[in-house]
Amino acid sequence: MADNNEGITPEISVVIPVFNEEAVLPALFERLYAAMDQIGRSYECVFIDDGSTDRSVALLREQFERRPNSTRVIFFNGNFGQHSAIMAGFKHCHGQIIVTLDADLQNPPEEIANLLAKVEEGHDYVGTIRKKRQDIFWRRIASQLMNKVRHRITKIQMTDQGCMLRAYRRPIIDAINSTSEINTYIPALAYMYAASPVEIEVEHAEREAGESKYSLYKLIRLNFDLVTAFSLVPLQIFSLAGIVLSLGSGMLVMYILLRRLFIGPEVEGVFTLFAITFFLIGILLFGIGLLGEYVGRIYQQVRERPRYLVKGVLEEQPVAEKTEEQART
Ligand code: UDP
Ligand code: MG
Repeated sequence: MADNNEGITPEISVVIPVFNEEAVLPALFERLYAAMDQIGRSYECVFIDDGSTDRSVALLREQFERRPNSTRVIFFNGNFGQHSAIMAGFKHCHGQIIVTLDADLQNPPEEIANLLAKVEEGHDYVGTIRKKRQDIFWRRIASQLMNKVRHRITKIQMTDQGCMLRAYRRPIIDAINSTSEINTYIPALAYMYAASPVEIEVEHAEREAGESKYSLYKLIRLNFDLVTAFSLVPLQIFSLAGIVLSLGSGMLVMYILLRRLFIGPEVEGVFTLFAITFFLIGILLFGIGLLGEYVGRIYQQVRERPRYLVKGVLEEQPVAEKTEEQART
């Protein structure tokens, strides 16, 4: 065994959410551990099994047995989502530098060395931009568009929000661990706390095997979360539009009233009025939906349900202070 961190706190933690990834795990283990060994610093790989129903669980156990000193596995009691999985990884990891990585090998583990080099230059947040995105067309367009909107609204500078390969220094992770916010988007949250964020370009490959766990619906949800979690601007735009529109329609009503008084009853232009009404109703409905986004967020927050449930943890030296947390996070 090439583990070089027996009994000591590792310098680097790699946090990897796993959900039904049996097809890629063997390749991931091989490349990830080889890449980390090559860096030559002490490390741990923290896998969070997000309620997989395939052989991922067995594969993770095997890997733990093979490399117990540099592996930690957290098993969830069900599927709580990628971000909850990463949050759990943050709670259970011990490194001073924390790297997040997807299990599907779309971001090559070999790039971790480049991220670490940037951290050594003094940055506390290293984001990544995929050099050549190997995703299908509509995903590229959709995420470009969302990036623009999000940047304008939230001021969070993230060229490539979909890329999870990122490195953070410990204080940022501690800050994230101390928030009890639900539904939050981790890279954006981290960006807020970072003093010296930087982005580098990384390679990007096709998904090695298995299929994407994100549907179009989930992507839309994620983006709504991103905007509403970090900004009130949508609501504010709404009140502004409300003012402008009510002034406008007020004038329209005055105009129609005057016509009724001076010209008498008339039915021409009824369709125009209908059109205006439908337009206003459309805006109204969107507004109610948007309000619902925020109210729903508050509702989720006040319930304070646990974000995930941990079924078990595989680790060499269980760390005492980490046991009370399971519930919240
Ligand atoms: N993932 C997870 N829980 C989920 C969905 C995904 O832990 O409910 C993990 C998945 O195993 C992978 C990462 O999150 O490691 C990214 O998922 P995926 O590659 O399917 O997303 P995409 O790259 O298509 O955005
Ligand atoms: Mg992927």
